[in-house]
Amino acid sequence: MKITALAGGVGGAKLAHGLAQVLSPEELTIIVNTGDDFEHLGLTICPDLDTVCYTLANLANPETGWGRKDETWNVIANIEKLGGPSWFRLGDSDFATHIERTRRLKEGQTLTQITQDFCKAWGIKHSILPMSDSPVRTMVNTDAGELAFQEYFVHRRCEPRVKGFRFEGVEIAEPTVGVKEAVESADVIVICPSNPWVSIDPIIKTLTPALSLKGRGRMVVAVSPIIGGKAIKGPAAKMFSELGIEPSALAVAKHYRNILDGFVLDDVDSNLEDEIKKINMKTWKTNTLMNNVSDRTRLANDVLHFIGSLLT
Ligand code: GDP
Repeated sequence: MKITALAGGVGGAKLAHGLAQVLSPEELTIIVNTGDDFEHLGLTICPDLDTVCYTLANLANPETGWGRKDETWNVIANIEKLGGPSWFRLGDSDFATHIERTRRLKEGQTLTQITQDFCKAWGIKHSILPMSDSPVRTMVNTDAGELAFQEYFVHRRCEPRVKGFRFEGVEIAEPTVGVKEAVESADVIVICPSNPWVSIDPIIKTLTPALSLKGRGRMVVAVSPIIGGKAIKGPAAKMFSELGIEPSALAVAKHYRNILDGFVLDDVDSNLEDEIKKINMKTWKTNTLMNNVSDRTRLANDVLHFIGSLLT
């Protein structure tokens, strides 16, 4: 069975890592959001792509969920001393990734090729694909005006109230050959527990209409990033509320209602299961919290059991 996972950063990377523990590189491909990529300090920074790569390479910082473990901070400290921008925290080892990626992009290499080479250097066996080689930039419409994603997310700490989103460049961004292959050859697409608005929607909007996530017997299954009405990390629940939707696993299921065959919700949300079933999808309840590596593997196995039950 072939599985293609769609992932953002922190939540997505954790389940992608779990799936990578139980599926071979032939069975699993991971497509990652690049909507929150940006140019900063003259460098192209791809936060979700790097989080997924660092996580699968066991290089990730387990405390923050982003950046690298055993990191030092000399470069950013010295940039700060010189009066440069230091609001986006980049560690010294992390800087090397962005410097080398930017050098190669300037030479004309694609983000897909560069990511593949980096994965090889980091010992990652599974294929990690950026959703597109053309830039797509998530713009957040807020009560403080339209903000580039990292300006909203990191610089303004998600404080402005959200009114909507725009994905700049999405109309002309093509899914790459590798992404097309990964979707078309997949038996199941797994939407990881990532932020639906700013991690998964940019992927879905970039891939479709050129590609159909469902089709020819392919199923789509999502894992809820909302547990007990709250996000584990980040602004997903706040975004639902500010857009006038009560944040819940049900709201996530409704958000994806047109593409989902199955939905994994947390045990604490059992009371929502009947409502979710009513929107025409199969459900699976389990503990979806991933506090450590064995939780990731456990949840990945649960998702695979669910998929198995859907296929029989
Ligand atoms: P970002 O781009 O770094 O914000 O990362 P994602 O979009 O991939 O992840 C953010 C989402 O992951 C949030 O909505 C969190 O609630 C969700 N999340 C983080 N950790 C977990 C977890 O252990 N279990 C589940 N179910 N969701 C999680």
